[in-house]
Amino acid sequence: MPYTQLATAPAQPDEAPVRTPALKLLQPPLVSFIGVQKSYDGISLVVRDLNLEIRRGEFLTLLGPSGSGKTTTLMMLAGFESPTSGEISLAGAPITRIPPHKRNFGMVFQNYALFPHMTVEENVAYPLTVRGIGRAECRAKVAVALEMVRLETLGARRPTQLSGGQQQRVALARALVFDPQLVLMDEPLGALDKQLREHMQIELKELHRRLGVTFVYVTHDQSEALTMSDRVAVFNDGALQQIDGVDRLYETPANRFVAGFVGDSTTLEGVVTGISETGCIVGLPSGVRVSGVNVNGALPGERVVCGIRPERVELTGVLNQANTFEATVADVIYFGDHLRLRCAVPGQPDAMVKLPLGRHDVPSRGDTVFLYAAEEYLRVYH
Ligand code: ADP
Ligand code: MG
Repeated sequence: MPYTQLATAPAQPDEAPVRTPALKLLQPPLVSFIGVQKSYDGISLVVRDLNLEIRRGEFLTLLGPSGSGKTTTLMMLAGFESPTSGEISLAGAPITRIPPHKRNFGMVFQNYALFPHMTVEENVAYPLTVRGIGRAECRAKVAVALEMVRLETLGARRPTQLSGGQQQRVALARALVFDPQLVLMDEPLGALDKQLREHMQIELKELHRRLGVTFVYVTHDQSEALTMSDRVAVFNDGALQQIDGVDRLYETPANRFVAGFVGDSTTLEGVVTGISETGCIVGLPSGVRVSGVNVNGALPGERVVCGIRPERVELTGVLNQANTFEATVADVIYFGDHLRLRCAVPGQPDAMVKLPLGRHDVPSRGDTVFLYAAEEYLRVYH
């Protein structure tokens, strides 16, 4: 498919973003990927038929395992890679042929690539210098950007005199200093230790809220994605699996991959024995039948996996109740804020059950228990 010729220059940094969610939905998307494909070798597609809209002002995360095409997608948006076919547009105008430096996006990567011979201030000023901004304006903007990431007292230092977290903040200030309408980040916290990473996640989310700029963030870490994002686009094997708000992603995964990749699940494998109006009935190898939500069109006779979040599984006293199965407690694990039972279920993977603290009837290791998976929370995937 031929590239669409460049029609107009990229949009200028925009007017103030609309903060009301309802209004945000009515606006045209800031970025659209339309049927985008990418092959590096001309044989295999590492991004397949990508249709994705990025809303103005949102924090969107591209989430997926290593090799799923996240970085390639971000590099095509940045302009460092071009799509093999399809089109990317910014505020309605095609940008597929516009070189990276003319797209005017802020960028932060895992290896933050600060200039070692420059001070923090000079590093942050760099994008302004190359844009020919005058000295006075440059100084003022650098000061604001450094204050934004709370490094205003360290402007005279060199990168080597900073901690990893501070260096990453400098990279962030450098990405924000020229007021880009879109900031792209590829695993920017990957090199930091867990505590600092979690701290920076909160800071990034707060910064996003304050600035109202559109953030596109890449990570393979599902908890990082859930912590920060308005919406998450889940990738696997070059294909977009689901794009949704974090709560919907967790509560209503669209397929088996998303259910397994985002959050914990207890799973039951079986074969569909019947279809009802709302869901389907699954026969387990043990002979027990359970009903659940038919998520993606499983048909009678098909092998399926039923998944339920561990906090939705209930302990019940009786077996002769619908959607209940027998298990043996293999482990009781104390998590500080809840208890988790690991239960052995004959012919199935271990079942995880999350219990609030302070229950009087917590079973012990070796006990037989009956687990109830309510039909509305048990999701059946083919
Ligand atoms: P992710 O960021 O999700 O880990 P990437 O987009 O980096 O995934 O990679 C997707 C696939 O494309 C992988 O199989 C990777 O090996 C391949 N790939 C990435 N960059 C290149 C490149 N420059 N040349 C050839 N193959 C590449
Ligand atoms: Mg990557």
